[in-house]
Amino acid sequence: MTVAVVLFTSDLRLHDHPPLRAALAAADEVVPLFVRDPAVHAAGFDAPNRCAFLADCLADLDASLRDRGGRLVVREGPVVREVCAVAAECGAVEVHLAAGVSGYARRREERLRAELAEQGVELRVHDAVVTAVAPGAVTPAGSDHYAVFTPYFRRWSQESQRVPLPAPRRVRVPGAVRGEALPSGRKKLAGVSPDLPAGGETAGRDLFARWVRSRTGLSHYEEGHDDLAGDATSRLSPYLHFGAVSAVDLVHRARAGGGPGADAFVRQLCWRDFHHQVLAARPATSWDNYRTRHDRWRTEDDAAEDIAAWREGRTGYPVVDAAMRQLRREGWMHNRARLLAASFLTKTLYVDWRIGARHFLELLVDGDIANNQLNWQWVAGTGTDTRPHRVLNPVLQGRRYDPRGEYVRRWVPELADVAGQKVHEPWRLPDDLRAALDYPAPLIDLADGLARFKHARGRD
Ligand SMILES: Cc1cc2nc3c(=O)[nH]c(=O)nc-3n(C[C@H](O)[C@H](O)[C@H](O)COP(=O)(O)OP(=O)(O)OC[C@H]3O[C@@H](n4cnc5c(N)ncnc54)[C@H](O)[C@@H]3O)c2cc1C
Repeated sequence: MTVAVVLFTSDLRLHDHPPLRAALAAADEVVPLFVRDPAVHAAGFDAPNRCAFLADCLADLDASLRDRGGRLVVREGPVVREVCAVAAECGAVEVHLAAGVSGYARRREERLRAELAEQGVELRVHDAVVTAVAPGAVTPAGSDHYAVFTPYFRRWSQESQRVPLPAPRRVRVPGAVRGEALPSGRKKLAGVSPDLPAGGETAGRDLFARWVRSRTGLSHYEEGHDDLAGDATSRLSPYLHFGAVSAVDLVHRARAGGGPGADAFVRQLCWRDFHHQVLAARPATSWDNYRTRHDRWRTEDDAAEDIAAWREGRTGYPVVDAAMRQLRREGWMHNRARLLAASFLTKTLYVDWRIGARHFLELLVDGDIANNQLNWQWVAGTGTDTRPHRVLNPVLQGRRYDPRGEYVRRWVPELADVAGQKVHEPWRLPDDLRAALDYPAPLIDLADGLARFKHARGRD
């Protein structure tokens, strides 16, 4: 009887899962394993929203495996030690794993390969499980990654992708392998956002199916994806972050439907791959500038009050405040709102992007080193944006992407009675109306913010 182990990491699903498929083909019995590594806790990465969503994903994965005669084995401890122990306990000949892109994932892979080899066990790493196209699969001449999105998108679009794999019908798990209880769900966790979505592959697949069918879904995506109040994007990011849905599968299914909405959606999935290939090539950009602009950012020490106002959604700029309150309430934020909130912190308040990125990571259910850090850098102008000095004006952006002011009124109840576009500039209301609002005056004059930014940013 041959046994293989599949270590699940950011790929918590059964559909389109090459490591599981390969393990089932190679062995009579398979141990589907998830390890709760204290290093993730030590790095502060186990934020309540992601812990709650992860618990859902693991419970759903376990239930789906049980439907197929198996179960999920959960262990707690340093990941390399636990994988080696499980492999020894069940006499596994192979361990299968999806390739990761972060520095943590790379180190895990290297150490696993070395330590499993000492036990005579082979580590088999599978590409294009976490992303649609593997980082490094397409590169420009003379470099290990693309630094500009458009040429990457062109090459990425020509790359052939596998046909998504079906979920296995049966999974036989050896009886003797010891496992621990699944992590407790959101009810036992403190600090979870009240409107956090349910996690798991089943929920993710249902969400995509419903979104594709809906009138404001995939077919409407091209014209609707920037409409803040319309909320017409897929909201699949947390499912993608945990691998509860497969990027390959989404690209395949969107392309099968075709049309401008599908093209625009696939382009966004390519942005995800783009940032992953940058991080894979430059792991230090998780906290270091990708490109330095000689900024002299303000920090917690010299901008504590401004930073607190931004975090709490009381900057006096309604669209920014709406965005920050949505983040706290849902553990998620619309992409246009993320751009506005990040631009306001970095370019208007001229605060170090790392402070904003850290706050997002504390709350975002999709909080992701590749997508979060590199999007923050893109906005701050230290990343891959080809226009690093661009500044988004929250009033103009509010009028454009929330033309009726509905998004602001939804998230900022103090402004619920201010009609139409006026809600984007409450300071222009007549004095008596303004005085009746329990809403702060603008934290900074936009012109002053721009002047500070232009003055302080060093020359390239
Ligand atoms: C400052 C900032 C921080 C961000 N932090 C994260 C993060 O931590 N995790 C995260 O997944 N995304 C992040 N994004 C990207 C983007 O905002 C979210 O992926 C998107 O809002 C998720 O909503 P959705 O699933 O409805 O997206 P859709 O519009 O439906 O797009 C489909 C998928 O494409 C991917 N995608 C879309 N836009 C981007 C983008 N700009 N960059 C990378 N991938 C993209 C996501 O996986 C998304 O689920 C950030 C963007 C900014 C500006």
